[in-house]
Amino acid sequence: MAPQETRLIFKHIDEEGYTNDIDCYVKNGGYEQLKKAVTMKPEDICAEVLTSGVRGRGGAGFPAGMKWKFLDRKSGKPIYLVCNADESEPGTFKDRQIIHQDPHQLIEGMMCAAFAIQAKLAFIYIRGEFFQGYKILERAIEEAREKNFLGDNILGSGYSCDIIVHRGAGAYICGEETGLIESLEGFRANPRIKPPYFPAALGAYQCPTIVNNVETLCDVKHIIEMGGEGFAKIGTPGNTGTRIWCVSGHVQKPGYYEFACSDVTLGQLIYDVCGGLKPGRKLKAVIPGGSSAKILRADERFTGKLKDGTEFDWGIEDIPMDFDSLAAVGSMSGSGGVIVMDDTTDMVEALANINYFYAHESCGQCTPCREGVPWMRKVTQRMVDGEAREEDADLLKSIADQIAGRTICAFGEAASWPVQSFIAKFKDEFVEKAKEQAARRKEGKEVAKE
Ligand code: NAD
Ligand code: SF4
Repeated sequence: MAPQETRLIFKHIDEEGYTNDIDCYVKNGGYEQLKKAVTMKPEDICAEVLTSGVRGRGGAGFPAGMKWKFLDRKSGKPIYLVCNADESEPGTFKDRQIIHQDPHQLIEGMMCAAFAIQAKLAFIYIRGEFFQGYKILERAIEEAREKNFLGDNILGSGYSCDIIVHRGAGAYICGEETGLIESLEGFRANPRIKPPYFPAALGAYQCPTIVNNVETLCDVKHIIEMGGEGFAKIGTPGNTGTRIWCVSGHVQKPGYYEFACSDVTLGQLIYDVCGGLKPGRKLKAVIPGGSSAKILRADERFTGKLKDGTEFDWGIEDIPMDFDSLAAVGSMSGSGGVIVMDDTTDMVEALANINYFYAHESCGQCTPCREGVPWMRKVTQRMVDGEAREEDADLLKSIADQIAGRTICAFGEAASWPVQSFIAKFKDEFVEKAKEQAARRKEGKEVAKE
């Protein structure tokens, strides 16, 4: 039997009759948590968020309450809240859905968070391609302002804060929080070096800034409603709350599904929830957390110990879908993008596609990334074009090894991990392709391009 979804953030997504205007939102209990929040002490809300254990839903999984704790409140400078709505990780499509169908949930979560950290002003940095989402947010903010859920003296509390929506211009690197801040300030989105200065200390306009993902900010509203302890009861210790899994690729029913953390295994998600693979197909591999997460091979066995010392011995289908379990098998839950590949997938072509994306998106600020990522793209492209060389698999690994850990931002790792993991797990396919193509070239035959 298919496991039951726990729809917390997606409660009203795709619900018949539910509209994205403020009347519908208020009728369904909307803005009650903001009313409650402004009667609380800001530090008490921060304590609840810490107790909830909620981890960032943008990809890194950093505890949000801890991030808020690192906020420099003593500088005397204005504090800013930034919602990262630059959702661009290939395979991820949840934040867009929240913005389109339930924008007031995000606005309420943001205003609760803004009050908790006593932000002077809040921004939503929205991906440039999300033009419709931008229009929806602009309208929703206007509606909320009219009802005094934001703006001056919110609900008579004496606290004032507004939200500005800022559109990106179509670059993936604008989603990296310091690149985003540069872009917000009107500069090219070149990521800043961190540490030592994280945005919580020096962010937008050199002021303390909290950057949280759309889904994380929606969680804040629910934490106020059920209390930190109540929220922490959903999921498992260290993996609290729900996760929205965006499933794409070779499944019968791709889409978004929300489960309590650890409530569903990867196998249940693919076969019971998403209807399995097409008839006659076999599972080959899964990228479980957006394109930068390391790929998992269907016939692997994963053994080791979880953070709490529990030993595990799992096949791919047994892996619980949560932060720690996916990290324990050498990958990550990332931004929740689950990409399923069946046995028709050509791994060289799949990697070439990923490399093409990252080569296009490097900001070019640091040499290993600027030079290395397009070089990896060039190598996988020649393999697709029938010009593979026998040493290409080793060459790809060597380039990736020299990028990861040597760059300003996590993009270097994001671009290297797919290459490292594809080669580690499917090297035979890369070598085989190179041999076949070399033999055909020797015979003077043209290599078929698929
Ligand atoms: P990170 O681990 O460097 O930081 C995570 C968060 O914690 C940041 O907000 C950072 O400021 C904060 N933080 C960490 N240590 C801190 C400290 N000591 N003091 C104060 N704050 C601290 O990761 P990142 O570079 O922000 O994010 C990388 C992830 O982003 C990747 O794993 C990838 O999954 C994800 N990603 C998501 C998308 C998307 O579309 N959702 C796109 C690209 C990448
Ligand atoms: Fe730019 Fe790449 Fe360096 Fe990040 S790692 S700062 S994207 S060049």
